[in-house]
Amino acid sequence: MKETVAILGAGTMGRGIAEVAAVAGHAVWLYDPYPQALEQALREIRADLQKQHERGRLTGIEEILARIQTTASLEDCAQAGLVIEAAPEKLELKQELLGKLGELNESNILATNTSTFSVSAIASRVKHPARVLGLHFFNPAQRMKLVEVVGGLETDPGLLKRMQTLMQSWGKEPVQVADSPGFLVNRVARPFYGEALRLYGEGLAKEHIDWILKGMGFPMGPFELMDLIGLDINYAASTSVYQAFYGEPRYRPHPLQYQRVAAGLLGRKTGQGWYIYPPGPPPPPTPPKAQTKDIPLPLIIGPNPVAQELRARFKHTENVAEAQFVLDCRVKLERKHDFFENLPVVSLVWGHSASAVQAEFRGRPVAGFSLVPPISPATVVELYAPLSGGNEALKLAQSYFAAHGYNTLILPDQPGGVAFRILALLINEALSAIAEGVASPPDLNRAMRLGTGYPLGPLEWAEQLWLKPVLRALEGLQAELGEDRYRPHPLLRRMVAAGLENFGNLSLVPYTKGDLQTREEEAV
Ligand code: NAD
Repeated sequence: MKETVAILGAGTMGRGIAEVAAVAGHAVWLYDPYPQALEQALREIRADLQKQHERGRLTGIEEILARIQTTASLEDCAQAGLVIEAAPEKLELKQELLGKLGELNESNILATNTSTFSVSAIASRVKHPARVLGLHFFNPAQRMKLVEVVGGLETDPGLLKRMQTLMQSWGKEPVQVADSPGFLVNRVARPFYGEALRLYGEGLAKEHIDWILKGMGFPMGPFELMDLIGLDINYAASTSVYQAFYGEPRYRPHPLQYQRVAAGLLGRKTGQGWYIYPPGPPPPPTPPKAQTKDIPLPLIIGPNPVAQELRARFKHTENVAEAQFVLDCRVKLERKHDFFENLPVVSLVWGHSASAVQAEFRGRPVAGFSLVPPISPATVVELYAPLSGGNEALKLAQSYFAAHGYNTLILPDQPGGVAFRILALLINEALSAIAEGVASPPDLNRAMRLGTGYPLGPLEWAEQLWLKPVLRALEGLQAELGEDRYRPHPLLRRMVAAGLENFGNLSLVPYTKGDLQTREEEAV
């Protein structure tokens, strides 16, 4: 017999988790103090099971529903072997609920689905806190495979292993995560929104930012996604991570985010957020038809994956006498100096703006470009004119990329480019999370793909781009933008210094309870 599971709170998450547990064969107590919430939950669970049945994914709806009993009594729930709390996001409420359950039964397992509070803080009010853990499901819980299994400071490590096995038996993909603000996914994903908002604040169009990110393979652009999540929910997540890290500048929410929330423009649910619904965000333009004739030929400079991909896919020449322009893919600004006669220069802007490059080539036509490998037909090529304006280099770059069938956008000059600046900060955040022992590198990649639908985990992406250009670009961004939020994580510096190019060879020793004991013993 499978153990009984109790779910506290029959809202969006609670009813989804109840459905998953019942489908997995558990008897379920679904608790809510509001009878209408329980009635609605049962209606929605039935409707969802019906939908899955119609798609041929499930049979035995009545047996599954018969396993779910609703209740307004915590005493009923206390009989369950596993309790999962999915009540409103209020710390005192969660502490009180699990504290009461802990009094009624001193040996069952108590889990919280909190998104923002410390599991250790919730466990502090529970008798025998070793049995308290976080089981952080994603919305909708019935569909999303990822579950963050969060250990608090006093959680029994054996329990975390058992819960991972249980989650697998529920068809989920668990990752073990430390009790740290935002846990894993909500923290590592912050720059996806935060940096997009910065770029918007710097004058780039939100539609352009969304098209570029979708062109990289993200299922939605940041503005479209904020509209889906709800601007209020997204703002609350940003604020909570920022506060939990005591005002660390890289998590600072953007005033434009607050402004929309204060105006009640919360996204799809209110009919307007960043976009108006309907019609919602405009689709990206259809890419131009590729041509074979009259393509200007560049010399492609640089060893990195951008240069390699361009050489593999784009027309170019190795002969200076034949070249009409230089496509310089190197990242370090100091490397760029007058060369190749007077050819116009189109330079990768990952670590600096087009204007900064122009200063290195006095009097020469200079433009900036950015794209992020892997290149696909949906890739949008970003083009930048220096502050002095458009010139021959910009025209050459535009006709060159358009002739190969790619959408191009001419954008206000800024260092990094849209695609790269957002990705570089996602990579940097991922590095900080693994350095702090929040999760292992493979778990981090898996969690970001499953929890957010990213086409690649940020660390996998970093390996594809090479760590050295990412480091040099972040150094350039920090220098030109003058802000701490671009500071490369010291782990990135150490890996580049050590010549490590992938995370599989990384030896990270997270700080655990076991280490602490050993250290105390050593100290004696
Ligand atoms: P919700 O508002 O949809 O549901 C909360 C439910 O709790 C309601 O049915 C409400 O009647 C009930 N409730 C109210 N007072 C209660 C009490 N004293 N005891 C028990 N239940 C009570 O909220 P939700 O979106 O399901 O979120 C629930 C939890 O899951 C929160 O901690 C939230 O942070 C977390 N979470 C939410 C999401 C998401 O995307 N919605 C994702 C992951 C985690």
